[in-house]
Amino acid sequence: MTKTVEIEIKKVKNSRVATLDFENLNFGREFSDHMLVMDYANERWGIPKIIPFDNISIHPATSALHYGQSIFEGMKAFRNKENDVFLFRPDKNITRMNESCERMCMPKIPENVFMEGLKTLIALDKGWIPNTSNGSLYIRPYLFATDEYIGIKPSESYKFIIFTSPVGEYYSEPLKVKLETKYTRAANGGVGRAKTAGNYAASLYPAKLAQKQGFQQLLWTDGASHKYIEESGTMNVCFVIDGVLVTPSEESDTILKGITKRSVIEIAKYWEMKVEERKVSVQEIIESVESGSLTEMFGVGTAATIAEIIVLNANGENYELNPIENRKFSLKVKNFLIDLKKGSVDDPFGWVMKL
Ligand SMILES: *Cc1c(COP(=O)(O)O)cnc(C)c1O
Repeated sequence: MTKTVEIEIKKVKNSRVATLDFENLNFGREFSDHMLVMDYANERWGIPKIIPFDNISIHPATSALHYGQSIFEGMKAFRNKENDVFLFRPDKNITRMNESCERMCMPKIPENVFMEGLKTLIALDKGWIPNTSNGSLYIRPYLFATDEYIGIKPSESYKFIIFTSPVGEYYSEPLKVKLETKYTRAANGGVGRAKTAGNYAASLYPAKLAQKQGFQQLLWTDGASHKYIEESGTMNVCFVIDGVLVTPSEESDTILKGITKRSVIEIAKYWEMKVEERKVSVQEIIESVESGSLTEMFGVGTAATIAEIIVLNANGENYELNPIENRKFSLKVKNFLIDLKKGSVDDPFGWVMKL
């Protein structure tokens, strides 16, 4: 039984949507008319409010800015030519956000409030969802500590916000990635599994060094030995080796549990492809590239869906991978996922939520 959720709504006087050029969207720089805001204080959540998108005012001692109790999610809404709106597995994002809350000592967001708030916000700003072939509405829920206090302890007050941003394609070109064997994204027992702000701050410096050398992303290895592959940039990573979909297992808490990756695995199984979730060593990947048994390597995540990797730099060597046009699985799964998310093919999994 879901209780009805009370949401206060204050609409914009004049929508800005007519000023938007849907064919030339700048990723992450355009923001829709409204946002949802909900505050936590005195051990309870306040009423969720949908208000015009605008600046917020915060105290200089806001604890999130100093000590990093700050988490986020990323998901997308799609619109087809018939004006139907679809969300893809939003329940998974809500569950994962609450898992991040747990790790970061933050209060969980009631699932029904999150879901109803999300659906109401998307319905209100439906006109901002691109219906172009590669466009979507990126949805950014986030939660941060708002205590006005410079002592270190879990904050007692928080702000939860959802805003949305119309986007086009994330990467238009295949990626060159560099194997990272010095810096570490996440350590055992750390916060790598949580979608928490500091993880991304920590990755900027090593990523910048690689970018100077011409690589768009890093291929992260485990922090203890740097012998096993974990993720690529802010995406999970998959390989096709001898026709088997291979991906690092999530047993270690250093790998973020991606919803796109889980979906790709389930689709592969549905297509009766063999899947292996296990440790993946750098040595195995290099040997499989050299022998030709590795035919595909790609990143998976909500922002990019599938990002093909075309060059792997490891141990000072550039390995050219199989040309994109020969990659049967990732091309097929990418198109299938895009069609699925837009409701244009049958959904045998029950993943797509029509608004
Ligand atoms: C968000 C994220 C992913 C991808 O997760 P999706 O649910 O597929 O979007 C992978 N790795 C990291 C580090 C991430 O932050």
